[in-house]
Amino acid sequence: TIWNLGSINADMIYAVPHLPGPGESLAATGMERFLGGKGANMSVAAARAGAQVAHIGAVGPDGRWAQDRLTEYGVDTRHIDGVEVPTGHAIIAVDAQGENNIILFPGSNHAISQDQLGQALSSAQQGGLLVMQNETNLQVEAAKMGRDLGLTVCYAAAPFQADAVQAVLPYLDFLILNEIEAEQLRQATGQSVTDLEVEHVIVTLGSKGARYYHRGTASDFPAYKVKAVDTTGAGDTFTGYVLAGMDRGMPMAQAVSQANRAAALMVTRHGTADVIPDLKEVREARFD
Ligand code: ADP
Repeated sequence: TIWNLGSINADMIYAVPHLPGPGESLAATGMERFLGGKGANMSVAAARAGAQVAHIGAVGPDGRWAQDRLTEYGVDTRHIDGVEVPTGHAIIAVDAQGENNIILFPGSNHAISQDQLGQALSSAQQGGLLVMQNETNLQVEAAKMGRDLGLTVCYAAAPFQADAVQAVLPYLDFLILNEIEAEQLRQATGQSVTDLEVEHVIVTLGSKGARYYHRGTASDFPAYKVKAVDTTGAGDTFTGYVLAGMDRGMPMAQAVSQANRAAALMVTRHGTADVIPDLKEVREARFD
């Protein structure tokens, strides 16, 4: 099982004629609501890759639909708490040129209780995986518990914050980050990814693919050639697929290759959680 202490967001996308300025009231011409949050995206990706995924998190009174959506995608949502704080959300304005601005409200994602976490992990079996990203509270608590329970502790260092990564680093078996985040880590700590005492590290390189370090030794996985139309959710899809492979006991090289295929397919699609490809699509995809 993959235990994911993860964010759940409502991504609310408003179509506007132009981005509103200070003091301006502006009528949107359209609005759509999607399931989002890095945590939820990773849960959906891992479930679509065929893994058993238990999501640990919280939604507010306005977020039951998000929990239901996760359930529909095959994620175990029994450890998602209902709290009084509004569900985490992103208010995204998109103008006619496709420029956007985003207001992020963490809300319920920062109101996960220690009890909730403890109760969820009390049914975790040794050998399972625990994953976190930097959009919830309790990251360090979870990492420590995961280590004590003999889980493989995984962390996606996004959105990047140097002190958040550093706090969980001593407990990690697997760290995944993109090229920019790897550079931010180097600038903040003076450590490059090869210096870290983490067994598995993956740096994703966008259209260049990904580099996997096993105890500091690198292997490259070039990207599949596709026509990219929307790269949102590519990293989360990649991470979910790697985790699913690890959970199934696949050799890392195979897990990374499969993740590379899944993420390549993902960038050819508009949307996020709702369009993450399943294992059958990933296996059947043909790339040039
Ligand atoms: P993030 O979305 O977290 O910034 P990246 O941009 O590094 O992460 O992308 C994650 C993964 O998505 C890459 O490792 C690669 O597998 C895939 N990917 C991203 N952009 C492309 C692209 N243009 N063509 C093919 N694959 C891509």
